[in-house]
Amino acid sequence: MRPIIVVNCGAGSKPDMKNGAEKAGRIGYEILLKSGRAVDAIESAICSMEDDERFNAGTGSKIRLDGSVQMDAAIMESDGNCGAVASIMNVRHPIKVARMVSGTPHILLACKAANQFAAKMGVKEYDTITQRSIEAFKVAKKRLETGDMPKYANKWKDFEKFGMETVGAVARDISGRFATGISTGGTTYQLSGRIGDTPLIGCGFFAGPKGAVSVTGIGEDIMRKVLSKFVYDKIEAGKSAKDAAQLGVDLFEDHIPTGIVAVSADDYGAACNRDMAYWVNEEEGSVK
Ligand code: ASP
Repeated sequence: MRPIIVVNCGAGSKPDMKNGAEKAGRIGYEILLKSGRAVDAIESAICSMEDDERFNAGTGSKIRLDGSVQMDAAIMESDGNCGAVASIMNVRHPIKVARMVSGTPHILLACKAANQFAAKMGVKEYDTITQRSIEAFKVAKKRLETGDMPKYANKWKDFEKFGMETVGAVARDISGRFATGISTGGTTYQLSGRIGDTPLIGCGFFAGPKGAVSVTGIGEDIMRKVLSKFVYDKIEAGKSAKDAAQLGVDLFEDHIPTGIVAVSADDYGAACNRDMAYWVNEEEGSVK
């Protein structure tokens, strides 16, 4: 089967970020071309994005209201093998720890225990805070003070989120296996301990024998719709990945930023109700 990888930079990401997705996508695509597994391509691609400080994942992840950084990540293959971490701190590659969790009897490890697990697995401590993330935090705090918030943040009153830059990827390998991955520092305004859709199976990510899905947007809204599973079910029912991704985005009012990448045996889809920079080995693009 023809290999494919789609890497995205999050709902609201601008076209100038596409080069980060391209770099990551090419790393993953090389693995697929050498008959590598989709899950290995995804892990390597997401690692590259986690190292790019422009993205809200790994290095450069968003700083929470209490000044901490807590990250979520997940990875899943079409055979159901999956692993995730939530609210993990001070690791360079949350996606690698998620992959390590997939080798245990569990699916999701959270908070301090996730860090303890990572340390036991030999993962070194790493400071993910950058000058850029400090500056973004300062801007966020200022907007919090002035109440300068977009509509989708209304119900959070004084809580807002702008520019997601969460990273996600889906792939299909030569053997027809699918995989999905996702990594985030969460939202701009978030309490310590808040966990979004990203590490929750069926919400931020899903893969099965018919395809793979990775989503980005407002975690609380995505969870309510179990969005990744919704999109996967559409593919399973015979929709193309392109149509299924669009149907997923259509579930949301326009003021709620939502982006989806999906791949099936026949095609891929990238849909978003905002800008969303992404790269796919066949064509590169930015939707909306
Ligand atoms: N969905 C992520 C979250 O709510 C954020 C994002 O996609 O940018 O944590």
